[in-house]
Amino acid sequence: MSQADYIWFNGEMVPWQDAKVHVLSHALHYGSSVFEGIRAYHTPKGPAVFRLKEHIQRLFDSAKIYRMPIPWSVEEIEQACRDSVGQNGLDSAYIRPLAFYGHVGLGLNVPAGSQAEVIVAAFPWNAYLGDESAETGVDVCVSSWNRLAANTMPTAAKAGGNYLSSQLISGEARRHGYAEGIALDVNGQISEGAGENLFIVKNGVLYTPPVTAAILPGITRDTIMTLARDAGYTVREEALAREALYLADEIFMTGTAAEIVPVRSVDGITIGEGRRGEITGAMQKAFFGLFTGDTEDKWGWLDYVHTP
Ligand code: PMP
Repeated sequence: MSQADYIWFNGEMVPWQDAKVHVLSHALHYGSSVFEGIRAYHTPKGPAVFRLKEHIQRLFDSAKIYRMPIPWSVEEIEQACRDSVGQNGLDSAYIRPLAFYGHVGLGLNVPAGSQAEVIVAAFPWNAYLGDESAETGVDVCVSSWNRLAANTMPTAAKAGGNYLSSQLISGEARRHGYAEGIALDVNGQISEGAGENLFIVKNGVLYTPPVTAAILPGITRDTIMTLARDAGYTVREEALAREALYLADEIFMTGTAAEIVPVRSVDGITIGEGRRGEITGAMQKAFFGLFTGDTEDKWGWLDYVHTP
């Protein structure tokens, strides 16, 4: 993995190799962590963190669901994100804030008064599904694993433990030669990829599964819904059956790490023309245009690392 010089660790910039925790850390044993994945992009005004506010709000929301006290304010963690990019001299980066229970004993329920430890790391990271994926598209499959049922683990929380499910989904897909797996929810409706939300285009309309379909409410998903509506497209959050994948004109997946990735086949069935569709291309253009200035940032989504 690419590295950087420093990691923000409980309020201090610590050299990368010294940012360590104890082997009896609670999170290591029980998955008791919440985290975010954020990107900072190169812009003409220097590096800008994309939708920093929304990401840090989701971090605190995830912690709230698990009653995990974070001993820092939203603003302090936002600044830690900017600093982790700025003080590492990065022009673009993937940013990983993580709040976790450390050395608080191995009781399942942490002792009263325990607080989360927090780190923010920033480092260079290319598109998650490969550098070519944005152009060529990827081949995906429907997973034999379902997403978490609503009354088992809350999928709106971006919690460490949830990613065992994602590892099963993506691991199975890759063993079978696919780039990614799409999971159905326990009712058999389309949910999302192991680390991406999903959009289907049919007859010029964009469809995406609703939050009740065991998805993580993705910030890229929200960005695409906003950009698509702004461009005059109809966007529907709707329960979708598996066959809607096979009959789609276009499919694309969205996520901070993956960005906007066209899907060219599902379970070996070619989608549309088997290459990036027109609306997928338009959405990529609108999205990446935010960082070049070609798309006006009407929503105040860019948070500049260096204030003039
Ligand atoms: N679903 C899952 C399970 C994810 O891990 C991610 C990546 N954070 C997403 C969807 C996409 O969310 P976002 O656009 O906020 O990165």
